Amino acid sequence: MTSDLHSAFPAPTDEVVDLCRDLLRIDTTNTGDNATSTGERRAAEYVAEKLADVGIEPALYESAPGRANVVARIPGTDPGRGALLVHGHLDVVPADADEWSVHPFSGELRDGYLWGRGAIDMKDFDAMVLAVVRHWQRTGVRPPRDIVLAYTADEEAGSEYGAHFLATRHRDLFDGCTEGIGEVGGFSYTVDPSRRLYLIETAQKGIDWLRLHAKGRPGHGSMLHDDNAVTALAEAVARIGRHRFPVVVTDTVRAFLEEVSEVLDIELDPEDPETAIAKLGPIANIIGATIRNTANPTRLAAGYKDNVIPGRASATIDCRSLPGQSELLERQLRELVGPDIAIEYVQRQPALETTFDGDLVMAMSAALRAEDPGARPVPYMLSGGTDAKAFSQLGIRCFGFAPLRLPADLNFSALFHGIDERVPVDGLQFGVRVLDRFLRTC
Ligand SMILES: [Zn+2]
Repeated sequence: MTSDLHSAFPAPTDEVVDLCRDLLRIDTTNTGDNATSTGERRAAEYVAEKLADVGIEPALYESAPGRANVVARIPGTDPGRGALLVHGHLDVVPADADEWSVHPFSGELRDGYLWGRGAIDMKDFDAMVLAVVRHWQRTGVRPPRDIVLAYTADEEAGSEYGAHFLATRHRDLFDGCTEGIGEVGGFSYTVDPSRRLYLIETAQKGIDWLRLHAKGRPGHGSMLHDDNAVTALAEAVARIGRHRFPVVVTDTVRAFLEEVSEVLDIELDPEDPETAIAKLGPIANIIGATIRNTANPTRLAAGYKDNVIPGRASATIDCRSLPGQSELLERQLRELVGPDIAIEYVQRQPALETTFDGDLVMAMSAALRAEDPGARPVPYMLSGGTDAKAFSQLGIRCFGFAPLRLPADLNFSALFHGIDERVPVDGLQFGVRVLDRFLRTC
């Protein structure tokens, strides 16, 4: 897409920078607590205004005061085809300004990057989609099939006030949606100057967050005591934290590893995929977590006074299960903690996995190759979870496809929820071009 000199409108590749910057300047911190979360309503109103401004009719859905979502449908030329859902969340995780090189909500443009919390997770994609559809509306482009746009709240705290709310309370909005795209996929991983892998997310692990509860006999800290809840809990937590669950290579991960080892010329031993994964550099952390169930202790709670042995102690464990392994993981955990520790699930959302084939995958791959002749699209499994979990409950086949071409030396995975989160401006513009092509041909 080149900018039309006679046009009164900015080119979408220019406008995306302003849109992204505006969104970054709206602090949409999601603390996981309605009382302290902020800005989602403002961001939703901003998006709704940008859509309405070009004649798209958005609707705002508030799940709780301030927790706002925006949904709009763009009619396609062939109403007989299933609709495509394009979804992005507007909330971000908290950022501590003291740790950053720029203020996390300044949307500063520096060194070819837009800086700010949400720059890659995921106001970049939110802005790209806005830029593309605004351009279409202004120039009379209609997509081949209905496109449902969903800008959601609360993804960063489990999506209860966002995608899950929409999917359960307003499911008619998604009537006819057969496939969907959202975060975290479509980004590049540089092999050499002429070849880049583009990781398209076709699978994601399940969320199995649980709390361990230990009970014991309360007592005085100065005396002999053989039934201490803190000791029992600490032992269970340590056993889980140190445990390595067995390697299981799913179809998605196998396809990814085969492709990657071929391109990187790494020997792949199917019995020992970890050796190959260790050679992947910065993305090894993500991929390494997709060959086994994982369980990381994240919170501890016990006691109220230095010299009192409490009767109870609890810990939170962030577990992630491979497709089809949630029940197995539960059995493995029960075995690890033993009979005296109770397990309570605080979040349990299934893993997802679809195949890397069909027209939609071909359209994604073709759009990437058209904009980057060195593109090699590969399927991969995300170790985390996204709004796709909620939308897949409606029978929608979900992919992570938020195209972004990244410089070779950028440690992309470290920027997610990280300090100095930023997006390369040329990557953002690349994403607009790819999305424009893809959405015209999807
Ligand atoms: Zn995200």
